[in-house]
Amino acid sequence: MGAVQIIATIVAAAITVVAAVLGVRAVLTMVSVVRLGRPDHERFTDRGRRLKTMLKETVGHTRMLRWTVVGAAHWFVMVSFVLLSLLVLEAYFEVVGPERGLPLIGAWSVYGLVTEAFGVFGFIGILILMGIRLANLPRNPAKRSRFQGSTMWQAYYVEYTILAVLVCGFLIRGFKAANGTLEFPVWATPVSHGLGHLLPASAAAVSLVAMVKLIVSMAWVITIATHVTMGVAWHRFAAFFNIFFKRSPGRPGSGLGGLRPMMSNGAPLDFEEADPEKDQFGVARVEQFTWKGMLDFTTCTECGRCQSQCPAWNTGKPLSPKLLILSLRDHAYAKAPYLLAGGGTSLGGEELGTPEQLAKVNALALAEAGRPLIGGVEENGVIDPDVLWSCTTCGACVEQCPVDIEHVDHIVDMRRYQVLIESNFPTEAGVMLRNLENKGNPWGAAQSTRDEWTKGLGFEVPNVADGGDFEYLFWVGCAGAFEDRAKKTTRAVATLLHEAGVSFAILGQGETCTGDPARRIGNEFVFQMLAQQNVETLNEAGVKKIVATCPHCFNTLSNEYGQLGGHFEVVHHTQLLAQLVADRKLTPVQPLDGGLTYHDPCYLGRHNRVFAPPREVLASVPDTTVTEMDRFAERSFCCGAGGARMWMEERIGKRINVERVEEALSTGAKTVAVGCPFCLTMLGDGVTGKKAAGAAPEEIEVVDVATVLLRSLTVRA
Ligand code: SF4
Ligand code: SF4
Repeated sequence: MGAVQIIATIVAAAITVVAAVLGVRAVLTMVSVVRLGRPDHERFTDRGRRLKTMLKETVGHTRMLRWTVVGAAHWFVMVSFVLLSLLVLEAYFEVVGPERGLPLIGAWSVYGLVTEAFGVFGFIGILILMGIRLANLPRNPAKRSRFQGSTMWQAYYVEYTILAVLVCGFLIRGFKAANGTLEFPVWATPVSHGLGHLLPASAAAVSLVAMVKLIVSMAWVITIATHVTMGVAWHRFAAFFNIFFKRSPGRPGSGLGGLRPMMSNGAPLDFEEADPEKDQFGVARVEQFTWKGMLDFTTCTECGRCQSQCPAWNTGKPLSPKLLILSLRDHAYAKAPYLLAGGGTSLGGEELGTPEQLAKVNALALAEAGRPLIGGVEENGVIDPDVLWSCTTCGACVEQCPVDIEHVDHIVDMRRYQVLIESNFPTEAGVMLRNLENKGNPWGAAQSTRDEWTKGLGFEVPNVADGGDFEYLFWVGCAGAFEDRAKKTTRAVATLLHEAGVSFAILGQGETCTGDPARRIGNEFVFQMLAQQNVETLNEAGVKKIVATCPHCFNTLSNEYGQLGGHFEVVHHTQLLAQLVADRKLTPVQPLDGGLTYHDPCYLGRHNRVFAPPREVLASVPDTTVTEMDRFAERSFCCGAGGARMWMEERIGKRINVERVEEALSTGAKTVAVGCPFCLTMLGDGVTGKKAAGAAPEEIEVVDVATVLLRSLTVRA
């Protein structure tokens, strides 16, 4: 071994030892922080499906590839990162002996070919990712880049490290080729052989470049080990676990569809037995999230895909799902030393941790422990109340997140504590909650008027109480029963079902709100009260199949009532109508003037994957063009009503419904079709406002898909 090799070996060994010690310490720290979270037993069920989903999403990159160019570039970088690890290992042999390579497979041409190919594609891939990042730099806050708020130096550092390691890899092989010691033929490693023609022969150069490569690699390990919140680097390891433990393996967005019941000590909370001294009511402190929540915070890559799709962020609200996760992550990791030393408070509020224990905790952790989880600037809160209440629970963030972070669950968990224990929520929503408790609907309408919409239809709408047989229970919903515009949809659906000869019945005055707005605002108590009552009514009536016009009811009935013993086959009216059209039980004949566009309701599309049926109904209308908006299907933009936002004032930023209406108007369609009574109201109000301002033609109309179909069957509904 020459002098160069001796020095290179000593340097490589020394830095590797430091990196290994710090790396192990960092992993132990992260595991201990994740373990601070509450138990969550469900995450260990269904392991086979979890493994399959994890492999599909990581190796197949199914979620990343929705962003085609970025996804493809990221896949090559990911694979080359794995292969790079082999080449880093190989560098240890090359510092010792410049003619050496990896034992066993080091001289295998296939190994040479694969690593060469992925070296080239990884190099191109990382340049593309760097270019995309540079093109989307948050230079102009008004443009709201997806990288706004991300820790940019960390991303640059990771990118330049990968680039440097790749360059070193090619230089090592190039020098080996120049020395005549490269193990592989030209066909397997053409780039390296090409470089060999340009580089001088030098054995020392091989060892020196291998040493540089190891220094760069180990410096990266040391850097990320001393920055455990560096998600842009750590997601390479954490993402596998986060995806494996996602809430609903097999579902594209794990945290979409139904909400989980309120959990306490790993089990659903029973309000009749609940004790505030022993049971947890939502999340008041960061350590009250489950360990999966902690893993979510740890895994965030800061990519900002969630932020780029968030309706709140895109309309100037303070909420960004990415920044929310980063705030929780930074707080959890800063507070962790205090919690690990035994500090904290019991569920009953009793202070934990002895003065001796807490004396060892650093000042930063003590200061962090004193911060309220929810609070404004004056209180030094981790999450501002305006952030918490801006969320429409539209699920765009969950849908887009490449590592399956469950933002909506975390937001609702924090809301639950604020509502149930602190009674701290936008005051205007209090009226809705009182109406739900006292009248069984958010409008506070008299229950006796629930079936008034049936008057004047020209046929009798059967009621379950009449005792006749029926196939479908037509779940009307509060909006469908009490809100004037939605009532038109209800009447249209009833007419269409009647025309098609579908056997159906309604509960009439026996129906109450499903509890969706109560659950989304965080009032699990009112939700459970309403849901239990409805489940009982439905089970007593022997209901098996339900058709619902409201996607919020549809979602609650199909995904959440099972938690309370209500198991039904639920369809949205657009699904049933599409089937009736396909079966030729309904045949549209009249074209619709001026063309159509369709707005996907979040709780129908993203939350429940019903994208095609409403489009099939619209496409069945003859000689009528259907134009998609820029954001549609999985990337559809919320109307602004979800998450009980319908019942709150929108005081900050641009109105979400106005943003969506502008997009609808840009299609030039005269009719904006929807599949949700709340979208109908929000977009209808937006269009009315535009018309009043002279910014929309008078003939523009927002109507339900059912109304479009009915108009096409007859001349005018
Ligand atoms: S659910 Fe929708 S509104 Fe809420 S944070 Fe996610 S993208 Fe934003
Ligand atoms: S999409 Fe997921 S990983 Fe990316 S910033 Fe948002 S939460 Fe983090």
